[in-house]
Amino acid sequence: MKVDLTGKTAIVCGASKGMGFASAKALAVSGANVTILARNNDELKRAEQELIRECASKILTVQCDLSRFEDIKNAFDEAINTFGSVEILVNNTGGPKPGRLDTLSDEDWKSAFESLFLSVVRMTRLSVPIMRQNKFGRIINITSILAKSPSEGMGLSNAIRAAILGFSKTLSREVAKDGITVNSLCPGAIATSRLENLIKLDAKEEKISPEKMRNRIESGIPSGFIATPDDFANAVLFLASPESRYVNGTVIQIDGGEYKGLI
Ligand code: NAD
Repeated sequence: MKVDLTGKTAIVCGASKGMGFASAKALAVSGANVTILARNNDELKRAEQELIRECASKILTVQCDLSRFEDIKNAFDEAINTFGSVEILVNNTGGPKPGRLDTLSDEDWKSAFESLFLSVVRMTRLSVPIMRQNKFGRIINITSILAKSPSEGMGLSNAIRAAILGFSKTLSREVAKDGITVNSLCPGAIATSRLENLIKLDAKEEKISPEKMRNRIESGIPSGFIATPDDFANAVLFLASPESRYVNGTVIQIDGGEYKGLI
């Protein structure tokens, strides 16, 4: 299937690197004009240069802290003023800190809720009226396999990402008649700088080398390897395409078969 997104515009959150960047690249290479958002301007500019080298689409970068409503509103307005519309929204941001019940404060919970969950609600709330007018919209939420398979010490991520799945499913039913689909992707191990940092931390804790830790992770994945961000972005591209119009309200693991459950 060749995806053609010419004439479509996308907003990709948390897109200066990692899965957000790979998603932006996949959309741009397929013809969409893309706005990429992140906090760090230098990283955004580096990402923009790479995208410009890879494709002929128009790219807009906007510095934005997704935990702040004013930043989200400003970034959204800039995207609409530049491209006139939005058909594809990829919600993504950095992961919250690890921690257990006794180490996480109310402030930790509130701040994770604001940056991880409210950012999705806010960006989606701004985008849906335009998608409704267009009678076309694709909303893709990047969460984590932890939303389906919680692991200890990751309470913020486990709880808040599951909330995104609930929000996503509800919304998918509310907007389906307007030609809008809402789906969530749950990545397992994807080779990004975030995963590299986690591997180093875990290796230090277990007093083994990062290489050994990486091998340990890979041996727990039925596919036997850690995917690249581009592997992940292929799923985003499909969900963003007009061809995915009957795929709505789903939760899809991109984890090489690591998740053991049926549903
Ligand atoms: P990454 O660190 O490589 O990239 C995160 C992106 O989000 C960067 O562009 C960063 O600048 C941006 N960002 C972070 N906080 C932001 C904020 N407050 N406002 C605006 N931009 C912000 O991460 P990644 O590995 O691509 O992961 C993306 C998401 O998927 C994270 O939430 C992560 O926890 C989750 N996840 C990752 C993996 C994995 O193996 N990499 C697995 C499961 C879940």
